[in-house]
Amino acid sequence: MSSVLINNIGTIVSGDIQHPILEGNAILIQDGKIAKVGKLEDFGQVTAETTIDCNGTTVTPGLIDSHCHTILGDYTSRQNQSGFIESELHGGVTTMISAGEVHLKGRPKDPAGVKALAILASKSFANFRPGGAKVEGGAVILEKGLVREDFMEMAKEGVHIVGEIGLGSVKTPEDASPMVKWARECNMTIMMHTGGTSIPGSSTVTAEMVMQTNPDIASHVNGGPTAVSFEEIEKLVENSDMALEIVHCGNPLIAVKAGKLFAEKDVLDRVIIGNDAPSGTGVVPLGVLRVINHLASLTSITPEQAICMATGNTARIHKLHRGVIEAGKEADLVIMDSPMGSVGKDALSAIKAGDVPGVAMVLVDGKIVVNTSRNTPPATRKPIIL
Ligand SMILES: [Zn+2]
Repeated sequence: MSSVLINNIGTIVSGDIQHPILEGNAILIQDGKIAKVGKLEDFGQVTAETTIDCNGTTVTPGLIDSHCHTILGDYTSRQNQSGFIESELHGGVTTMISAGEVHLKGRPKDPAGVKALAILASKSFANFRPGGAKVEGGAVILEKGLVREDFMEMAKEGVHIVGEIGLGSVKTPEDASPMVKWARECNMTIMMHTGGTSIPGSSTVTAEMVMQTNPDIASHVNGGPTAVSFEEIEKLVENSDMALEIVHCGNPLIAVKAGKLFAEKDVLDRVIIGNDAPSGTGVVPLGVLRVINHLASLTSITPEQAICMATGNTARIHKLHRGVIEAGKEADLVIMDSPMGSVGKDALSAIKAGDVPGVAMVLVDGKIVVNTSRNTPPATRKPIIL
């Protein structure tokens, strides 16, 4: 049985937004899963193959990017760039969730083609983890002509996400509603493009259209990248219970105004954070960390709450067995500290001060996949592998 003991932790961010900070200084991992979390003295006799002395730093769940436009492999044709997934892993993101393989050159738009693409992307990412990152690939793009049996077949073959509704030919609530019902019968999580037109071929989507379609997630309420009016977001908060996504490649003013509204309305458990890259805005390795920064430094949302939005909230909505530091969950973890030179004394106070934290180590399923990020500033204190 492989085992890793992480001890001497300064702060543990749980990922559970109801209780964002956990008491304790240690986490025990066995066979890739979290076995124990709490005070080391309460663990009893512990023998671990590897011990990581955290040196007083902060441990959080691995970040989950709720909105990534992967294709196949670690390459994006949107910006002709390779290695973007591994770059994001160096920004603390251990899971990327596809919002639709829409950037594939020559993407098929007939029912057989979209179905095949979703199944292929889902199965290939199940076998391939770029740099160690988990990619939930294969988010079917809704095109006219798909029937109930198609959703059943896709679900049987591992597809569990409906990519942003609105990117394909199905754009109206009338066309989308039956497919949403079939997808939900198949236990899929359904995303819907919200807001202004992003790229040629996508369309402007109002709150009313989103509510009529009834997805699980109103994608990028702060725009992709053009936002709808702020009143539209208020409607989604008041008149629906769907998840509300804030993305990096959106409108930053509306991101902050929406964050303030979500805190005021006490709906932070519905908020998730995505990058929405690769996109016209580019490839953004630190996008998720930067949204955490924006929300925690410019609104009343605390850094630990913002981290929970990018971890446990997203895992809950996508039914993933990770994103929370709790016994039995997959041991995807980030060790971070204040970056060198920050006014913050630890990761959380640095984030509150608007600084991107220094990612010192990333673990996926209990294995170290990043030992010192190549993309964040260096952490002030470093964990030591014993
Ligand atoms: Zn979109």
